[in-house]
Amino acid sequence: MSIENAYLNELMEKVIARDPNEPEFHQAVREVLASLSPVCDARPELITEGVMDALVEPERTIKFRVPWEDDQGNIHINRGYRIQFNSAIGPYKGGLRFHPSVNESIIKFLGFEQTFKNSLTGLPIGGGKGGSDFDPHGKSDAEVMRFCQSFMNELFRHIGPDTDVPAGDIGVGAREIGYLFGQYKRLRNEFTGTLTGKGLSYGGSLARKEATGFGLCYFTDCMLKDHGDSFEGKIAVVSGSGNVAIYCCQKATELGAKVVAMSDSNGYIYDKDGIDLDLIKQIKEVERKRIKVYVERKPSAEYHEGCRGIWTIPCDLAFPCATQNEINLESAKALIANGCKAVCEGSNMPTTPDGIDAILEAGLMYTPSKASNAGGVAVSALEMSQNSMRFYWTFEEVDEKLKGIMSDLYKNVAAAAAEYGHPGNLMVGANIAGFLKVADSMLAYGLV
Ligand code: NDP
Repeated sequence: MSIENAYLNELMEKVIARDPNEPEFHQAVREVLASLSPVCDARPELITEGVMDALVEPERTIKFRVPWEDDQGNIHINRGYRIQFNSAIGPYKGGLRFHPSVNESIIKFLGFEQTFKNSLTGLPIGGGKGGSDFDPHGKSDAEVMRFCQSFMNELFRHIGPDTDVPAGDIGVGAREIGYLFGQYKRLRNEFTGTLTGKGLSYGGSLARKEATGFGLCYFTDCMLKDHGDSFEGKIAVVSGSGNVAIYCCQKATELGAKVVAMSDSNGYIYDKDGIDLDLIKQIKEVERKRIKVYVERKPSAEYHEGCRGIWTIPCDLAFPCATQNEINLESAKALIANGCKAVCEGSNMPTTPDGIDAILEAGLMYTPSKASNAGGVAVSALEMSQNSMRFYWTFEEVDEKLKGIMSDLYKNVAAAAAEYGHPGNLMVGANIAGFLKVADSMLAYGLV
């Protein structure tokens, strides 16, 4: 991905020189700047007024120590982060990730991406992201609770319903949000919608749990229809088996596809009869076990160690829903060779730049994550609205709004791609459409 505008190219070099050890952040910035060259050529004030330089620097980076005690009385110290990337169009909004791989580069790339994604939803939310290198796997509920409470003991002073509203991400689901929200409420002595993804009994929105996976399928459906196609009869592969993957699998199946494979960080399962989603939910959501348990209960399925192998399974639709850079060039080539028609991104930045190039060159349909996985944050924003109104919509009402948001989002992204000379390239369209509203707001504020 080359950056044609000379100033943006220099800016990319500056970003690398300033923080040389942040490869994920560089990757995300490069993809966006490459798409924005035609916009900056047409609107040089975006450069001269400093918008482009400000866009690639977070407004605020908060980094803190998180001490916690395990069940044996041993003390552990983890590192916590909240990066408040851009509040041009609304309060910072974005998830918290608990995973051993978390570092500043990963949180920065996620916060940067979140800024454009949130703008694309059409809702008034800025971009932020946070998390910790804490690993919830294998920890007791009490240990996870103590960790979450300690994390919130610092985070609470930086967030609020009109300032910054975190949500879940990898390793942060309903259990963690409950502990985090409980501690926030206690420290602040207030009951406001400062976190989203809350339980239904204490302010959560119906359909939030399903929103990212469902939204991904609604967006994909719009794209397929635009190409005179549909989910009907398609073979699909979904990586991951967490929140996004499970509800992507559910909606893809409802829309007529057969999902034949899912994975976790150890390996993948292949079930030629179609994944038994109730069994997956039981293993992953209820028992919190590894995905290989699936084949013990359904011996006709296969289990393979290693997660990348999932992309060698022939499929029409590939849904990466686990983590960043999970589809590299080799995986992309395997998908292309096996006749895959579309790669539809559920996880954030799941495809490496050379993987994306190969997919686009081979003429596959491709949905960029910042557009296709925006359904989660969109319903999070709806949760904020419901909390403010102290009024709740039904599942059907939220689902209808989600469908409308994803359909508008698709139309806007496709229109921006066409307007700037890249018809059909949804990656370029998403970067431009997400950028314009943020950039115009930043311009309006003057130097901030
Ligand atoms: P979960 O923690 O619920 O699930 C993550 C899944 O991906 C698990 O199956 C996990 O396996 C697997 N996984 C995690 N890390 C790796 C890795 N390094 N290699 C292989 N597999 C891995 O997270 P979510 O479903 O919430 O998030 C998945 C992706 O979707 C992330 O990129 C997230 O940023 C993105 N996303 C999530 C949204 C949401 O609403 N939750 C919204 C928008 C984007 P294991 O259990 O073995 O760790």
